[in-house]
Amino acid sequence: MKLSFLGAAKQVTGSMFMLTLHSGYKILVDCGMDYELKKNPVAQANIFPFEPVTIDLVILTHAHIDHSGNLPALVQQGFKGNIMCTPATAELSAYLLYDSANIQLNQYRKSLGRTKKNRREQIAKPLFTEKNVKQTVDQFFTIPFHKKFQVNPQLSIQFIEAGHLLGAASIEVTVTEAGKETRIGFSGDLGRANSKLVRNGEIFDQVDYLVTESTYGGRKHFSGSDAEEELMPFIQKTCIDFRGRLVIPAFSVGRTQAVVFTINQLKKKGLIPDWLKVFVDSPLAIKSTPVYERHAHLLNQEAQQFMQDHGNLFHFTNIHYLEGMDEHEELMHYFDPCIIISAAGMVEGGRIQEHVSNNIENPYSTILIAGFCAEGTLGHRLLQGQPSIQIKNREKRVFAQIARTDVFSSHPDHDEVFNYIESTAYASKKAGKKLQKVFLVHGEEPQLQAMQESVQSKAICEAIIPSYLEEFEL
Ligand SMILES: [Zn+2]
Repeated sequence: MKLSFLGAAKQVTGSMFMLTLHSGYKILVDCGMDYELKKNPVAQANIFPFEPVTIDLVILTHAHIDHSGNLPALVQQGFKGNIMCTPATAELSAYLLYDSANIQLNQYRKSLGRTKKNRREQIAKPLFTEKNVKQTVDQFFTIPFHKKFQVNPQLSIQFIEAGHLLGAASIEVTVTEAGKETRIGFSGDLGRANSKLVRNGEIFDQVDYLVTESTYGGRKHFSGSDAEEELMPFIQKTCIDFRGRLVIPAFSVGRTQAVVFTINQLKKKGLIPDWLKVFVDSPLAIKSTPVYERHAHLLNQEAQQFMQDHGNLFHFTNIHYLEGMDEHEELMHYFDPCIIISAAGMVEGGRIQEHVSNNIENPYSTILIAGFCAEGTLGHRLLQGQPSIQIKNREKRVFAQIARTDVFSSHPDHDEVFNYIESTAYASKKAGKKLQKVFLVHGEEPQLQAMQESVQSKAICEAIIPSYLEEFEL
């Protein structure tokens, strides 16, 4: 069979890999949106370097848009098969994809409004519409964790827990061709050990080939893993001692729930007074938060115990979930001490940008960056420590505290990814298989190179950094 790298090759976003069996059967693993298209003119010209109608099956690791975001375009361009994923991934993906269709439509309308009539044909149209998302959701076919599913006599798949996000899976693909069985493991995005809410990830018990993420393959996380201990000093100093506002940019799905749950834990310990208001200003978070409670059996021991003791995870005195724009506007004029959690995490667009703009000149406010910020984003610029910054074409002086934590990071660092690869090789050996090759993806080149060096210096197996469109015979 042939393994092709159609995305997340030497970059973080746009995850998409293809397995082509000898019979011609084609499997796509993930179909993510590429946020770094500008870097890659070949991909920019054609988001699918194949005919979508020729794909037989899609397997989806998890709901994040950089893994799922091009599915509606694939469907719109003729893909008619099943999209296999876990039930929680199907639910979260539906909300995220509808949201993505909406964002694209709004951006398109805004660009139309700004552009003169004779130039309108140059504006990129949305990649897909709500109708395409509905079709996509209809093609989801869900399989729970740890249930081997025989797709056809040559092919079976199994999901194991990746520990990255609710429902996130690593996928074991078993292919039998000419009497020979080959197993390939796709890590999807992995999580850190002892993450909030989700259980720790699992390793494959035996694979011949491993395709693994290595987002932070060259980095060591600087924060510990105790989120309560990490978050409380920011709340104490900003909101309680100085009566200011703590603004936390967070992705609506995953990070927001982890932050809200941590605040709830601190509240139940009596460390946060009831007068302090907490605002979650994100319609998508409102939709996706109940999915966590609906799939409570997938949560870790700590979260399940908390739910038993307190009845829920994300509700407490003075938490306010804001949906409409009128509520958002009201919050923009609320000047008492509070915590504001809003999307998106890299502070690019969305409601968070307005909250940052609203608070950046206030020395009593803190902006706490809680995740990865790609170069060029406002989040990244904030972390540069400049005395003033441009937000929406307005120069703003920076008087607020700009802080960061990676305690909520949902990706493992160098040591954790290395352990994952080493443990997979060890488990495979114990089961009588040899891990032959590991393919390092979903990371900037220096991060991948650091991991390649570590794997090869310990002679675990051959470590390959595939290029975009590169193919390997397995
Ligand atoms: Zn992810």
